[in-house]
Amino acid sequence: MRIDIDELNSLPSKRTRIDFNEKLEIENVVKPVVGEIYIQASGGGVLINGHVQTLLKLNCHVCLRPFFQSLNVEIDEQLSARADEDDSPRERELTRDDFYEVIPADGLIDISDIVYQAVTLASPVFCRCGDDCPGPPKPEKALAAGNSSATGSDSRDDSRIDPRWENLKTLFSKQESGENS
Ligand SMILES: [Zn+2]
Repeated sequence: MRIDIDELNSLPSKRTRIDFNEKLEIENVVKPVVGEIYIQASGGGVLINGHVQTLLKLNCHVCLRPFFQSLNVEIDEQLSARADEDDSPRERELTRDDFYEVIPADGLIDISDIVYQAVTLASPVFCRCGDDCPGPPKPEKALAAGNSSATGSDSRDDSRIDPRWENLKTLFSKQESGENS
């Protein structure tokens, strides 16, 4: 969804409200992003605010189970006035101004992209399924058994040989006859 800054400026109130409802390709977002957004032209720039919500499907970082979580995102953006035509793109240093996007030269403000950025930023970095999270999954038994047998085999000597190796032992005895008998 795009808003034309010239159309916005032609409105008596220089203000418009949109019902936002779009399916955005954002990781973990499984429902359309819906909400209401107000766009206000102000001093050559544009103020965009409102709120949207959607649903996330996440994997709990503690118990590793998938779960759903609703996400409410406040939209609060400020776009500064269009750059002059003769203001050729130059390598800019990071200044305070860079926290504000600039209205594109064609005057079309991509509301979908602004919502996309806001939802992406608001997505949780750490995911926990809830207060009833069962906690970390128990260590796999295979892993524990592997560790204990690895240390046990070092102290094992021929007198306590595993019965499963008996056949192998007799095989070696036959081949190396003369040394052991
Ligand atoms: Zn959990």
